[in-house]
Amino acid sequence: MEDVFRNPEVLALKGRMKQGTRVVITAHRSPDGDAIGSSLAMKHLLAHLDVHAQVIMPDAYAKFLQWLPGHDEVWFHERSPEACEQAMREAQVVFCLDYNAPSRAGRLGPAVEAASQRDTCFVAVLDHHQKPEAFADLLVSDPSTASTAELVYRLMKAWEMSDALDAQMAACLYCGLITDTGSFRFPSVQPSTHEMASHLLGTGMDHSRVHSLIYDACRLDQIQLTAYALSQKLQVFPEHRSAIVSLSQEELRRYNAQKGDTEGLVNRALSIEGINFAAFIKEDVDLVKLSLRSRGAFSVRDVADAHFHGGGHHNAAGGACADESLEEVVDRLVGLLPSFSSALQYED
Ligand code: 5GP
Ligand code: MN
Repeated sequence: MEDVFRNPEVLALKGRMKQGTRVVITAHRSPDGDAIGSSLAMKHLLAHLDVHAQVIMPDAYAKFLQWLPGHDEVWFHERSPEACEQAMREAQVVFCLDYNAPSRAGRLGPAVEAASQRDTCFVAVLDHHQKPEAFADLLVSDPSTASTAELVYRLMKAWEMSDALDAQMAACLYCGLITDTGSFRFPSVQPSTHEMASHLLGTGMDHSRVHSLIYDACRLDQIQLTAYALSQKLQVFPEHRSAIVSLSQEELRRYNAQKGDTEGLVNRALSIEGINFAAFIKEDVDLVKLSLRSRGAFSVRDVADAHFHGGGHHNAAGGACADESLEEVVDRLVGLLPSFSSALQYED
């Protein structure tokens, strides 16, 4: 593993963390378990240095993440843009966690961009996505790492602050770890991932409870939406080893869909025997969102990048289309499948 924490700027950043330093921690829009988990863990770490950090998310995250220690103090740009933008203007240090381009922060992006251009603000990125944009004063980027939570953990070690790790901070880190590794089953998991988990469990953090709060908190509507999507809206293309599920706004409304309800649908499609590529396509209010997953050699990051204005990881990526209808995006992807087909013919 490349030691991206060897950079002397990493230690120098700790030196900037003094009582009264104005710090903001941000993550990408539609925050997932790794985005908010690593952000709240970072806040706990800084609190150990007597530094108060304001966590600002572009928009809300799923209910199954709203129990995390520190959740009550999070600000959301979509709810209070003025207060969030003022905090960004006054910040002396801005952390960007789990994203590597200002545009990934949605409507908070321009404030991140402005902070990076201000001499009085130091912007630090900790991220594990490929192809980072050059906007930060300190870029800690390691695409070989399974989660940003692991990068916050490694920062804690680089700063020689292991005594800051209590059960609360461990729960935040564990949330990022399990959500970004599919509970330790993705190829990105390394021996160091389990070593970190061992350290987290050593704090007394109740790992089974954390898992249950995240994965066993479905509403009946949500289960029925999943059942509907898989029974009525799943298209399987065995000859291309591909599967596509899509949902319209009307269908989402029919099942009272809330943020996070469709997370995991794409993995159900990928779990079909012989399928190496799966897509979930969702009609949002002003755009069409894609979640792409693959098994093995086929890169969904390349698909997202080349065809859907997106990016992500080799086996998990996403994108968005602003000027096409749901049907148009689905048809376009179906039309692309024959060109992916030969690259998808492998056993795992
Ligand atoms: P998900 O399908 O869970 O929304 O996202 C999977 C991965 O793709 C995540 O790592 C996420 O950061 C990335 N991703 C999702 N949507 C986009 C997008 O619109 N643009 C880029 N660059 N990455 C995305
Ligand atoms: Mn992540």
